[in-house]
Amino acid sequence: MVTLESYACGEWRRGRGNSRVLRHAVTGEPIAEISSEGLDFGAMLRWGRERGGPALRKMTFPERAAVLKKMAGVLNEHIEELREMATSYGATAKDARLDVDGGIGTLAFYASLGAKQLPEARILADGDVSPLSKEGNFVGRHVYVPLEGVAVQINAYNFPSWGMLEKLAPALLAGMPSLVKPATPSAWLTFRMVQILIASGVVPEGVLQLVSGSVSDLFSHLTCQDVVSFTGSASTGEKIRTHPAIVRNAVRVNIEADSLNCILLGPDVAPGSPTFEHFKNEVVSEMTVKAGQKCTAIRRVLIPEERAQDVIRELRQSLAAIRVGDPRTEGVIMGPLVDEDALASARQGIEKLEAEAAIVSGDPGRKDFEPKGGFFMEPVLLHCRDPKRATAIHEVEVFGPVATLVSYRGPEEAIELARKGGGSLVGSIYSEDEDFVARATLGLAPYHGRLMVMNAKSAPESTGHGVVMPHLVHGGPGRAGGGEELGGVRSLHHYMQRVALQGDPERLERLLST
Ligand code: NAP
Repeated sequence: MVTLESYACGEWRRGRGNSRVLRHAVTGEPIAEISSEGLDFGAMLRWGRERGGPALRKMTFPERAAVLKKMAGVLNEHIEELREMATSYGATAKDARLDVDGGIGTLAFYASLGAKQLPEARILADGDVSPLSKEGNFVGRHVYVPLEGVAVQINAYNFPSWGMLEKLAPALLAGMPSLVKPATPSAWLTFRMVQILIASGVVPEGVLQLVSGSVSDLFSHLTCQDVVSFTGSASTGEKIRTHPAIVRNAVRVNIEADSLNCILLGPDVAPGSPTFEHFKNEVVSEMTVKAGQKCTAIRRVLIPEERAQDVIRELRQSLAAIRVGDPRTEGVIMGPLVDEDALASARQGIEKLEAEAAIVSGDPGRKDFEPKGGFFMEPVLLHCRDPKRATAIHEVEVFGPVATLVSYRGPEEAIELARKGGGSLVGSIYSEDEDFVARATLGLAPYHGRLMVMNAKSAPESTGHGVVMPHLVHGGPGRAGGGEELGGVRSLHHYMQRVALQGDPERLERLLST
């Protein structure tokens, strides 16, 4: 069994006291133990601020980009090992590529952005010069400078690789050191990646620290120069947002929380049509990729009432073909959930949905999977006939291979139901009817961070409803946390202070290149 140590103040440290045992998602066997007890979080933050921050702030944006490129290169050398390790939390080969390759690809994206789009400077200009005087000798200009604290990054269990790298890359490029805290159930992969990065020597001292285990009193040491970037459930997000030290010091917080993402099938789309086939494949893929453990997964499938029986029949047929089991076995399409708690929580969630919706495909209690010790569940599809009166189907996120069909009567009702999710990361609209699409897009957009406006032309080339691209915003309003990650240069601003400089225009211009 591996001991997952933390990397603190330039040393690997083993936690004291009782450790928690992590189990292999496929076999249930113990694989690692983890504890952060005894870590001095105040010292870790100081180390980042005093060693990592100054080292990064000395570099220009392209120099920081070069560090990211080297990091991507080092991780790529270990890609096979990392993909294989992803099996430990239930990933199939396809799931592992999303997490491991997707994370390294995000590092490479920011490396390229820093090299090609950012100046040979340490300050980022924002917008034009504002003339403020008659003679033109006194002007104003906004700039961004890196914050001088530590970017504390708390991640969810479903993306131990991508989740770390999609936060680390913009923070490092902006000039802030990171303190990474992976979720406990899948911390093994993150631990191994940090081990590889530290051993390679490509990361400057103090720029990357790792907490294996819980964060204990870390928040009480935060100042106004630190940042917390959190991904996880809405309830944990709320605890972090309202932590007294975070409130008192107005610590910048970005929350990426859960969401009841929807896909909307237009009334014009008939079963058997190419658009319908694309819609159906998207639903099945979103329910089964990573066993539905994706924050962007489709949870609510909005369909015209008159098409309900056709949609149920078609989806049942496709879901029946999904083989669940050991992801290393040929022909297996979906692996297990991450652990026993995740499985129990998914089953409890389905029970809540059943108060308002009936199961039309799958059995959440099925246990005859191989190997016996794994945390398996087959895809479960429900159907809600009275969604306007329902609440649970719009509020309970079942983090597993589970979705609910929601019948709507007319476009306005479809929009109203979509918005009942209270703010989501992503939504999809499938229709060839331009009027319907225009109404639905305007109706859904204020409640979403990203919208897929799909037809038969775009669908074959689509990257997929649930796949987050580094070029585009990831985040969403309300329930989704109100945060914004990724999306190019703007994602660096989260780690920087916007300052209005005022003075002599030539002097301000010179300052931009210091
Ligand atoms: P979680 O239980 O909320 O945990 C998320 C992270 O917060 C973990 O690292 C966890 O550490 C830590 N944590 C728990 N309690 C904390 C506290 N009081 N203070 C500080 N940190 C704390 O979520 P999860 O079960 O790992 O992940 C599943 C959830 O994440 C789902 O709801 C999913 O929708 C959401 N998610 C959202 C996104 C997004 O981008 N919006 C992406 C992926 C997942 P421990 O594991 O050590 O407890």
